[in-house]
Amino acid sequence: MFGSASGIWDKVYKDVKRHNVPEILNGAFEEKNFVGSDARRFYFRVKDPSANKDKNKVEEVTIEWYTLDGKDMPDDKPKIPSLVLEETGLDTGVFTSRAVMLVTNNTDLAQPTNTGLARHPGDAKEGQANHRTRRAFLDGNVVAVYRNARNVECKTQATIFDRVAATLFKGSRDERRTLPVRVVNYERGGEPYATREYIAAHVARSQQLWTQVGLKIEQTLEVRQPIAKDMLDKDGFYSPNLIEEEDPLQKAALKNLLKITPDNTLSIVFLPLKGPNAYATVRPIKGIDFGNRFFIFMSLGLDVREETLGHELFHVLYNRQDGDPEKIPVQYFTFVTTSPAFYTGPDVGDPVDLSRLPNSRIFRRIHPFSIDWFRLERKVRYKNPDSYLFGVGSVSPKVDESTGNTLVEPFEAPKKGK
Ligand SMILES: [Zn+2]
Repeated sequence: MFGSASGIWDKVYKDVKRHNVPEILNGAFEEKNFVGSDARRFYFRVKDPSANKDKNKVEEVTIEWYTLDGKDMPDDKPKIPSLVLEETGLDTGVFTSRAVMLVTNNTDLAQPTNTGLARHPGDAKEGQANHRTRRAFLDGNVVAVYRNARNVECKTQATIFDRVAATLFKGSRDERRTLPVRVVNYERGGEPYATREYIAAHVARSQQLWTQVGLKIEQTLEVRQPIAKDMLDKDGFYSPNLIEEEDPLQKAALKNLLKITPDNTLSIVFLPLKGPNAYATVRPIKGIDFGNRFFIFMSLGLDVREETLGHELFHVLYNRQDGDPEKIPVQYFTFVTTSPAFYTGPDVGDPVDLSRLPNSRIFRRIHPFSIDWFRLERKVRYKNPDSYLFGVGSVSPKVDESTGNTLVEPFEAPKKGK
């Protein structure tokens, strides 16, 4: 076993069309299986001549595998953590597993996996023998344990994401990054608009999505700030007209925020936003000098199942606007502006049924061509200062000097024992 990363579910879906909730490939053959064909799948291998008892038979051995958290405590250690490895051929004494994969959240973990084993056929559910996924966080480890015929235990451990060689490569091999985020919670009459729980729930939810590619979202502080009167309409809402470049409410909000915001930071701003659910300041605004500051405005009462913050983070991390909704399949939350709720009815466009979310098939993935983009360092903020509409109306697959951000930092694991 070598270093491993979270699965990215890149070959997972069949019948992928826009406006169609795709099925998950879960066949017995690896190339027809979402684990067996994931770009970040990995395998276990045991070499044990003593387990090769019958030279005329392809035999099998069993290992156990589970994950540890950053403090080396069990993370996802199911009741039955066993996995069968098949001998690679007659009389080899070498045993390999079908592909396995890490996932970042319980929704994905609950997805049954076909065992891929002719002698143990069928789907294994979470917690059952031969289930082929485990949940893990960024600073965790994967552990595999094998006991031979004399009951001697052989244990191996691998870090999650490519960081084994971090010292040798002065850390450059570590795929992980940390995104520090400030929270601005506006208040009125001394009362904050958003509760701590509301903020924490949205941050945690977006973390589930971004863990897949190695990004840790770290809230550094919460700033409480009295809302300015000129930010609100007569009904007490922040309802900017975002098509209008000189919108007075937005200008007032940004003037207020810029006073309290250091450069090169991302702030998530909670306030009674009306109109959009949320938006990020990706376009230039006349008369506003953002420097390297980004703001995500979040309204109140948003259901975390809509994955709103995860999507807004994409805008900021990639410095890109939404792509063309007609071109992007349903499984990707990056680039897509349509709400996942739109896909929850029995048929697309039927009344929404949020109880059907989260769903491994809807809005859980980062587009495979852009999974590394959060690590790119943007050189310019606006590629074409005369036009703020770059990126709109396409998938924007091309990386250029405006792609990426200057916000992410090297990953630092929490200190053990803290
Ligand atoms: Zn968007």
